[in-house]
Amino acid sequence: MNTSHTLPSYLDPNHLGPWGIYLQQVDRVTPYLGHLARWVETLKRPKRAMIVDVPIELDNGTVAHFEGYRVQHNLSRGPGKGGVRFHQDVTLSEVMALSAWMSVKNAAVNLPYGGAKGGIRVDPKTLSRGELERLTRRYTSEIGLIIGPSKDIPAPDMNTNEQIMAWMMDTYSMNTGATATGVVTGKPIALGGSLGRREATGRGVFTVAQEAAQHIQLELKGCRVAVQGLGNVGGVAAQLFAQAGCKVVAVQDHAGTVYQASGLDIHALLEHVAKHGSVLGFSGAEALARAQFWSVPCDILVPAALEQQITVNNAAQIQARLVIEGANGPTTPEADDILAERGILVVPDVIANAGGVTVSYFEWVQDFSSFFWSEDEINARLVRLMREAFAAVWQTAQQHKVSLRTATFIIACTRMLQARELRGLYP
Ligand code: NAD
Repeated sequence: MNTSHTLPSYLDPNHLGPWGIYLQQVDRVTPYLGHLARWVETLKRPKRAMIVDVPIELDNGTVAHFEGYRVQHNLSRGPGKGGVRFHQDVTLSEVMALSAWMSVKNAAVNLPYGGAKGGIRVDPKTLSRGELERLTRRYTSEIGLIIGPSKDIPAPDMNTNEQIMAWMMDTYSMNTGATATGVVTGKPIALGGSLGRREATGRGVFTVAQEAAQHIQLELKGCRVAVQGLGNVGGVAAQLFAQAGCKVVAVQDHAGTVYQASGLDIHALLEHVAKHGSVLGFSGAEALARAQFWSVPCDILVPAALEQQITVNNAAQIQARLVIEGANGPTTPEADDILAERGILVVPDVIANAGGVTVSYFEWVQDFSSFFWSEDEINARLVRLMREAFAAVWQTAQQHKVSLRTATFIIACTRMLQARELRGLYP
């Protein structure tokens, strides 16, 4: 049934925010879903979206109100799982898209989770530590109705970290009257966090890059890499590429772009960023204008910062043979088509950055069993899972002659809709 005339704007596929992009991605995969396509509408609306008012007392004695969200996109395969983002531009439609990509990601790697995401529309840099703690605790209380170790398990995302996870865990535990370490992942090690979690997303990015490079006969040793974003994902990935003998020739962050044809000293660059807050002013590298980043000569490009970075405006200039999406949603659908026409292989976010949630899953399992694994064990399991997931995506892409993104969606949507069909509709 065509219900488009009744759709609110955020459910409208022509509204090209992140949610509109996600809807287009689902449309692309629908022809490959066989009889399960009758359930596809399930994927086009979130199961549950909660909007909460988060009032806190500021240090100056006034009361401020912030808007918070927790969206559970799909719970057919297990509890919701996905991060919490604190950012001034967070909107319901963005959180919906991020929650949907979590559903796809979790199903693609075959983790026993649905997809969820949360956020607060706030610039956390404007808050004191005390204000940030009050904000986090009140938000956690408000969404406490729908989260829990077997209901929905938040984790860090942009501008949230281990400390915020510790406050979330404590607030939930206080409200329920029992210490519940498994209610969030990405916690400090001292509170049931997992070894290897911090590095997991970057390690996953590097692992899929190794696999993809092998398939296109690209020798990693000596190949040139450009990375956008030198944070948790891009920073770790850049280090692993450098360790593998690649030359990380260009790095862009929020403040600047640096280039060195013979390869940047990543260790020194990370030290510079830790000291000065950005890559700006790093000696031993050429400073480039922001737009130039996209046309630097390189073999592998890793967008690991924000959404909608590779667009119709720069896709034609990209020189890489391989794009590995560390960030969520960095490539628009039009840009995706341009890259495909130019023969550039894109490893999509929903598989490339799944390393973080994979080790979050290990953390949750360890919390449940109160038995903790060594870092080597965690890394080995992570690499094995990522390789298996990539191999399945590659094989599906070959079979249907589709992009790796569509192949990942085929695998993930099939798993979600199989679960949907087996469970049936309640009541
Ligand atoms: P982070 O906050 O640690 O780092 C973000 C980096 O992006 C910083 O280097 C920052 O300077 C840079 N950046 C910000 N704005 C920029 C701009 N306009 N241009 C260029 N660079 C800019 O964040 P992170 O955890 O590394 O996450 C990065 C991306 O990866 C996000 O899209 C996030 O959703 C996604 N992701 C993260 C994880 C994880 O485990 N951290 C897992 C999956 C996906």
